[in-house]
Amino acid sequence: MKIFADGRLLALGITAGTATRHFGTGRDKENVKKLFDSLNIDHQKILGINQTHGTDIVQIITEKDLEEYQKNQTHNADAWLLGKKEQGVLILTADCAPVFVWDDKGRYVGLAHCGWRGVAAGLPAKIAREVKKRAGAGANLQAFIGPHIKACCFEVRQDVAQKFPPQARVERGGKIYINLTEAVVMQLTGEGVKEKEINRQNPFQCTMCNKENFFSYRRDKTRDVLMSFAYKI
Ligand SMILES: [Zn+2]
Repeated sequence: MKIFADGRLLALGITAGTATRHFGTGRDKENVKKLFDSLNIDHQKILGINQTHGTDIVQIITEKDLEEYQKNQTHNADAWLLGKKEQGVLILTADCAPVFVWDDKGRYVGLAHCGWRGVAAGLPAKIAREVKKRAGAGANLQAFIGPHIKACCFEVRQDVAQKFPPQARVERGGKIYINLTEAVVMQLTGEGVKEKEINRQNPFQCTMCNKENFFSYRRDKTRDVLMSFAYKI
Protein backbone atom coordinates (compact mmCIF):
# COMPACT_ATOMS: atom_id res chain seq x y z
CA MET A 1 0.00 0.00 0.00
CA LYS A 2 1.68 3.07 -1.20
CA ILE A 3 0.90 6.71 -1.74
CA PHE A 4 2.87 8.78 -4.23
CA ALA A 5 3.41 12.10 -2.54
CA ASP A 6 5.61 15.14 -2.23
CA GLY A 7 7.26 15.54 1.18
CA ARG A 8 7.12 19.33 0.92
CA LEU A 9 3.33 19.25 1.24
CA LEU A 10 3.30 17.23 4.43
CA ALA A 11 5.89 19.56 5.93
CA LEU A 12 3.42 22.39 5.31
CA GLY A 13 0.58 20.60 7.06
CA ILE A 14 -1.10 19.22 3.98
CA THR A 15 -1.66 15.50 3.66
CA ALA A 16 -1.76 14.86 -0.06
CA GLY A 17 -0.85 12.43 -2.78
CA THR A 18 -2.01 9.77 -5.17
CA ALA A 19 -2.94 6.37 -3.77
CA THR A 20 -1.85 3.32 -5.76
CA ARG A 21 -4.36 0.76 -7.03
CA HIS A 22 -3.82 -1.35 -3.91
CA PHE A 23 -6.35 0.96 -2.27
CA GLY A 24 -8.89 -0.01 -4.92
CA THR A 25 -10.91 2.12 -7.29
CA GLY A 26 -12.03 5.54 -6.14
CA ARG A 27 -15.49 4.94 -7.59
CA ASP A 28 -16.25 2.68 -4.63
CA LYS A 29 -17.12 4.79 -1.57
CA GLU A 30 -15.87 1.99 0.69
CA ASN A 31 -12.38 2.37 -0.78
CA VAL A 32 -12.47 6.13 -0.25
CA LYS A 33 -13.38 5.53 3.38
CA LYS A 34 -10.63 2.90 3.78
CA LEU A 35 -7.99 5.20 2.31
CA PHE A 36 -8.82 8.05 4.67
CA ASP A 37 -9.22 5.73 7.65
CA SER A 38 -5.65 4.59 6.99
CA LEU A 39 -4.56 8.24 7.11
CA ASN A 40 -6.55 8.96 10.26
CA ILE A 41 -8.66 11.47 8.36
CA ASP A 42 -12.45 11.58 8.72
CA HIS A 43 -13.68 10.56 5.25
CA GLN A 44 -16.77 12.73 5.69
CA LYS A 45 -14.45 15.73 5.47
CA ILE A 46 -13.49 14.75 1.93
CA LEU A 47 -15.34 16.47 -0.88
CA GLY A 48 -15.81 15.15 -4.40
CA ILE A 49 -16.52 16.60 -7.82
CA ASN A 50 -18.09 15.37 -11.01
CA GLN A 51 -15.20 15.58 -13.46
CA THR A 52 -15.99 16.65 -17.00
CA HIS A 53 -12.56 17.20 -18.62
CA GLY A 54 -13.20 20.93 -18.36
CA THR A 55 -11.37 23.69 -16.51
CA ASP A 56 -13.79 24.74 -13.77
CA ILE A 57 -12.39 25.03 -10.27
CA VAL A 58 -14.31 24.64 -7.01
CA GLN A 59 -12.86 26.74 -4.24
CA ILE A 60 -13.11 25.75 -0.60
CA ILE A 61 -11.49 28.51 1.39
CA THR A 62 -14.12 29.84 3.77
CA GLU A 63 -16.99 28.36 5.73
CA LYS A 64 -19.28 30.02 3.22
CA ASP A 65 -17.61 28.17 0.34
CA LEU A 66 -18.29 24.93 2.14
CA GLU A 67 -21.94 25.82 2.71
CA GLU A 68 -22.24 26.74 -0.95
CA TYR A 69 -20.75 23.40 -1.92
CA GLN A 70 -23.12 21.52 0.35
CA LYS A 71 -26.12 23.39 -1.03
CA ASN A 72 -25.43 22.31 -4.58
CA GLN A 73 -26.33 18.85 -5.78
CA THR A 74 -23.91 18.63 -8.67
CA HIS A 75 -20.35 19.81 -8.82
CA ASN A 76 -19.19 19.75 -12.40
CA ALA A 77 -15.55 20.74 -12.19
CA ASP A 78 -12.05 19.38 -12.66
CA ALA A 79 -10.06 21.13 -10.01
CA TRP A 80 -10.00 22.34 -6.44
CA LEU A 81 -8.59 25.34 -4.70
CA LEU A 82 -8.37 24.43 -1.04
CA GLY A 83 -7.57 26.87 1.73
CA LYS A 84 -9.78 25.68 4.56
CA LYS A 85 -8.33 23.73 7.45
CA GLU A 86 -9.60 20.28 8.42
CA GLN A 87 -11.04 19.90 4.99
CA GLY A 88 -10.08 17.62 2.15
CA VAL A 89 -10.68 17.24 -1.55
CA LEU A 90 -10.52 14.33 -3.95
CA ILE A 91 -10.03 13.81 -7.66
CA LEU A 92 -10.05 10.57 -9.64
CA THR A 93 -7.71 9.65 -12.47
CA ALA A 94 -6.79 6.76 -14.74
CA ASP A 95 -4.00 8.03 -17.05
CA CYS A 96 -4.84 11.73 -16.58
CA ALA A 97 -2.37 13.72 -14.48
CA PRO A 98 -3.19 14.82 -10.94
CA VAL A 99 -1.51 18.22 -10.65
CA PHE A 100 -0.85 19.72 -7.21
CA VAL A 101 0.13 23.39 -6.95
CA TRP A 102 0.61 25.30 -3.70
CA ASP A 103 2.30 28.32 -2.18
CA ASP A 104 5.33 27.54 -0.04
CA LYS A 105 3.60 28.82 3.08
CA GLY A 106 0.99 26.11 2.56
CA ARG A 107 -1.98 28.43 2.74
CA TYR A 108 -3.53 27.27 -0.51
CA VAL A 109 -3.33 24.10 -2.48
CA GLY A 110 -4.73 23.50 -5.92
CA LEU A 111 -5.47 20.00 -7.15
CA ALA A 112 -6.42 19.52 -10.78
CA HIS A 113 -7.48 16.57 -12.91
CA CYS A 114 -5.50 17.11 -16.10
CA GLY A 115 -6.14 14.82 -19.03
CA TRP A 116 -5.25 15.91 -22.53
CA ARG A 117 -8.44 17.94 -22.82
CA GLY A 118 -7.81 19.80 -19.59
CA VAL A 119 -4.18 20.44 -20.48
CA ALA A 120 -5.07 21.58 -24.01
CA ALA A 121 -7.63 23.93 -22.44
CA GLY A 122 -5.00 25.37 -20.09
CA LEU A 123 -6.07 23.93 -16.74
CA PRO A 124 -2.53 23.59 -15.26
CA ALA A 125 -1.90 27.29 -15.98
CA LYS A 126 -5.30 28.22 -14.61
CA ILE A 127 -4.84 26.43 -11.29
CA ALA A 128 -1.37 27.99 -10.85
CA ARG A 129 -2.87 31.42 -11.55
CA GLU A 130 -5.62 30.87 -8.97
CA VAL A 131 -3.17 29.81 -6.27
CA LYS A 132 -0.97 32.82 -7.08
CA LYS A 133 -3.95 35.18 -7.04
CA ARG A 134 -4.87 33.98 -3.55
CA ALA A 135 -1.39 33.71 -2.09
CA GLY A 136 -0.21 37.04 -3.52
CA ALA A 137 2.03 37.96 -6.41
CA GLY A 138 5.19 37.50 -4.34
CA ALA A 139 4.33 33.94 -3.35
CA ASN A 140 6.68 31.15 -4.28
CA LEU A 141 4.70 28.34 -5.88
CA GLN A 142 5.59 24.68 -5.79
CA ALA A 143 4.10 21.81 -7.75
CA PHE A 144 3.91 18.06 -7.90
CA ILE A 145 2.72 16.11 -10.91
CA GLY A 146 1.32 12.75 -9.85
CA PRO A 147 1.36 9.47 -11.79
CA HIS A 148 -0.07 9.64 -15.32
CA ILE A 149 0.36 8.21 -18.78
CA LYS A 150 3.72 9.18 -20.24
CA ALA A 151 5.13 9.75 -23.69
CA CYS A 152 6.10 6.05 -23.88
CA CYS A 153 2.41 5.13 -24.21
CA PHE A 154 0.30 8.19 -24.91
CA GLU A 155 -0.24 7.82 -28.65
CA VAL A 156 -2.73 10.29 -30.07
CA ARG A 157 -4.32 11.23 -33.34
CA GLN A 158 -2.91 14.09 -35.35
CA ASP A 159 -5.84 16.39 -34.46
CA VAL A 160 -5.17 15.90 -30.74
CA ALA A 161 -1.41 16.38 -31.20
CA GLN A 162 -2.07 19.70 -32.92
CA LYS A 163 -3.47 21.07 -29.67
CA PHE A 164 -0.07 20.72 -28.01
CA PRO A 165 3.11 22.74 -28.42
CA PRO A 166 5.86 21.03 -30.48
CA GLN A 167 7.97 20.53 -27.32
CA ALA A 168 5.26 18.24 -25.94
CA ARG A 169 4.96 16.11 -29.09
CA VAL A 170 7.04 13.03 -29.71
CA GLU A 171 7.22 11.33 -33.09
CA ARG A 172 8.29 7.72 -33.10
CA GLY A 173 7.91 5.01 -35.72
CA GLY A 174 5.44 6.99 -37.75
CA LYS A 175 3.24 7.54 -34.71
CA ILE A 176 2.69 10.58 -32.58
CA TYR A 177 2.76 10.69 -28.79
CA ILE A 178 2.07 13.41 -26.26
CA ASN A 179 4.42 14.21 -23.41
CA LEU A 180 1.76 15.34 -20.96
CA THR A 181 4.34 15.98 -18.22
CA GLU A 182 6.19 18.44 -20.42
CA ALA A 183 2.97 20.21 -21.43
CA VAL A 184 2.00 20.62 -17.76
CA VAL A 185 5.48 21.86 -16.80
CA MET A 186 5.43 24.41 -19.63
CA GLN A 187 2.14 25.84 -18.42
CA LEU A 188 3.28 26.00 -14.80
CA THR A 189 6.58 27.70 -15.63
CA GLY A 190 4.63 30.04 -17.90
CA GLU A 191 2.80 31.20 -14.78
CA GLY A 192 6.03 31.79 -12.91
CA VAL A 193 6.47 28.47 -11.11
CA LYS A 194 10.22 27.84 -11.05
CA GLU A 195 11.32 24.67 -12.79
CA LYS A 196 13.24 23.55 -9.70
CA GLU A 197 10.03 23.79 -7.66
CA ILE A 198 8.23 21.30 -9.90
CA ASN A 199 8.43 17.70 -8.81
CA ARG A 200 7.69 15.67 -11.92
CA GLN A 201 8.57 12.38 -10.30
CA ASN A 202 10.30 9.42 -11.73
CA PRO A 203 9.90 9.56 -15.51
CA PHE A 204 9.19 5.84 -15.61
CA GLN A 205 6.10 6.04 -13.42
CA CYS A 206 3.74 5.72 -16.35
CA THR A 207 0.27 4.52 -15.40
CA MET A 208 0.03 2.36 -18.51
CA CYS A 209 3.46 0.74 -18.12
CA ASN A 210 3.24 0.23 -14.40
CA LYS A 211 0.37 -2.17 -13.88
CA GLU A 212 1.54 -3.13 -10.42
CA ASN A 213 0.77 0.31 -9.02
CA PHE A 214 -1.72 2.01 -11.29
CA PHE A 215 -5.01 1.77 -13.07
CA SER A 216 -4.87 2.76 -16.71
CA TYR A 217 -7.89 3.38 -18.86
CA ARG A 218 -5.88 2.83 -22.02
CA ARG A 219 -4.54 -0.48 -20.84
CA ASP A 220 -7.52 -1.91 -18.98
CA LYS A 221 -10.54 -0.19 -20.59
CA THR A 222 -12.31 -0.25 -17.23
CA ARG A 223 -13.72 2.59 -15.14
CA ASP A 224 -11.28 1.96 -12.28
CA VAL A 225 -9.61 5.12 -11.05
CA LEU A 226 -6.83 6.15 -8.69
CA MET A 227 -7.56 8.53 -5.82
CA SER A 228 -5.64 11.80 -5.51
CA PHE A 229 -6.31 13.99 -2.54
CA ALA A 230 -5.30 16.95 -0.46
CA TYR A 231 -6.29 17.53 3.15
CA LYS A 232 -5.35 20.60 5.13
CA ILE A 233 -4.55 19.58 8.68
ZN1 LIG B 1 4.22 3.98 -20.56
